[in-house]
Amino acid sequence: MNENLINHKIVFLGESAVGKSSLVIRFVQDKFSLSQEPTVGAAFLTKKLKVDDLNYKLQIWDTAGQERYHSLAPMYYRGAAAAFVVYDITSMDSFERAKKWIEELKKICGEEIKIALLANKMDLDENQRVSKDIALEFATEKNLQLFETSAKTGLNVRKVFEETIKILPKTN
Ligand code: GDP
Repeated sequence: MNENLINHKIVFLGESAVGKSSLVIRFVQDKFSLSQEPTVGAAFLTKKLKVDDLNYKLQIWDTAGQERYHSLAPMYYRGAAAAFVVYDITSMDSFERAKKWIEELKKICGEEIKIALLANKMDLDENQRVSKDIALEFATEKNLQLFETSAKTGLNVRKVFEETIKILPKTN
């Protein structure tokens, strides 16, 4: 079969334990585990996907959130078409960290990278510490799309990828 694949690199950033690996695994394998092992350095998975009749091959990079790996991050986000910056809705610290990632991406990558902000662990909304209003205000100010996700239930996980792909270039 002669497949015309459009390749894109997508990188996940965010504090440790916000659910980056879990979101990637939910999207690629449609699985979830409460005992997800921490990512060391970075890992990548590929996934083929069809959006609006076009075939895409995504190279998805899952980076470690620990500060000791911070200096490695540019290696992963440079050349990425999109970055998904994740926070955990039950942790204000993780939201503050997400804001810092966005500042860094905007400063270093400028308009070259599409950024989406992911409010993860929506299934724990009874423990929500970061209100939707605060997140929306920030996302609007920075001109980013905000998605409410749950790797546990799968809420909006596929949508994040599909909506982002729609605004990426249609060629390699
Ligand atoms: P990472 O360090 O950002 O990659 O985070 P992980 O994917 O390793 O997840 C950290 C912990 O949060 C694990 O115990 C996951 O099972 C859990 N987790 C991840 N996403 C969700 C979610 O959407 N809901 C809930 N309840 N737990 C989640």
